[in-house]
Amino acid sequence: MIHAEENAILKLSLSPLSCKGSSIYITHFPCQRCCKLIYQSGIRRVVYLQESMKIEKELIFFKKLRIKIEKLNIINPDGEIGIRAGFKIQ
Ligand SMILES: [Zn+2]
Repeated sequence: MIHAEENAILKLSLSPLSCKGSSIYITHFPCQRCCKLIYQSGIRRVVYLQESMKIEKELIFFKKLRIKIEKLNIINPDGEIGIRAGFKIQ
């Protein structure tokens, strides 16, 4: 199974754009595999809504590599929390 982060990064790799220096917006904090892929792709900021597991190791990984991490609290008018994986090219 392919994760949303992998799917977004792979789709962008088929375009003329690059992940280098970009931000990724995701609903859940990424798993270890996606953390490595995020770093290797050049993404330098991770914005997420919630954790679905313990993230201590992943936080240390990102902090060592100077990847910015931001947790959002977004509730839409229906009272649901959610955004889709995507990029903001800087
Ligand atoms: Zn993942």
